[in-house]
Amino acid sequence: MGFLAGKKALIVGVASKRSIAWGIAQAMHEQGAELAFTFQNERLQERVVSLAADVGSNITVACDVEDDAAIENVFTSLSAQWGGLDILVHSVAYAPADQLQGDFAQVVNRDGFRIAHDISSYSFAALAKHARPLMQGRNGALLTLSYLGAQRAMPNYNVMGVAKASLEATTRYLAYALGPEGIRANAISAGPIRTLAAAGIGNFRKMLDFVEATAPLRRNVSIEDVGNAAAFLCSDLAAGITGEVIYVDGGFNTVAMNL
Ligand code: NAD
Repeated sequence: MGFLAGKKALIVGVASKRSIAWGIAQAMHEQGAELAFTFQNERLQERVVSLAADVGSNITVACDVEDDAAIENVFTSLSAQWGGLDILVHSVAYAPADQLQGDFAQVVNRDGFRIAHDISSYSFAALAKHARPLMQGRNGALLTLSYLGAQRAMPNYNVMGVAKASLEATTRYLAYALGPEGIRANAISAGPIRTLAAAGIGNFRKMLDFVEATAPLRRNVSIEDVGNAAAFLCSDLAAGITGEVIYVDGGFNTVAMNL
């Protein structure tokens, strides 16, 4: 029996087999969790329905996180089908393409800043708000995905780094607000992984090469590496951990240089 047996987990953010959320879903499935998924739009629906079936799930609900009514509908629907929820995985980020190339001070604008924060940071709080009533009395766990660009300036990551800093702070405030109800909130700061979202970041290949040459483990991480850490963090094995940002990056963030 896996260490997530009996847990019900909602996975938000699967777009393809390369998605970090898919690595998390697979690891949670292996550990015995029952899964439900959201998909961003009709374009992704068929793919998400088919991936969900691969891990024994037939619960898929549309959810564009910019839409409050869509968020509400996800939890109304989960409440009807499951009655409660143990785990929420938020693996969503977006910034307009023109924000993710070049000189931050030049390309940043009001709309880009607002959209990046709304979709990549506020949405975690919005989902947590609706998950809260379903998690009462169940030692619930919330998890989001961040990146080192929240803490250090990086080429091209620009406003997404600013939004990730906001997301990490949101994680701490959710942990503080929900801790008295036994609900934990954590973030995984993952190393770079080639996914659809990553394709939008300028010079991504160079980032992968740099991490591989510099990280103590001398390799990039995989969605399986992140998935396994996520399964642990959302399980009762991690019952004492909340408000944290845990790095799954081969140790890259701990190193200043490699000669
Ligand atoms: P991905 O493209 O597979 O996933 C991004 C997801 O965000 C997609 O499922 C997409 O549908 C969803 N999304 C975007 N806008 C949305 C909206 N308005 N409503 C609902 N969903 C929306 O890419 P990924 O790399 O797996 O990204 C998942 C998370 O991991 C993101 O938060 C990303 O910033 C983070 N992350 C990625 C890396 C990396 O190198 N790939 C590293 C660290 C952190």
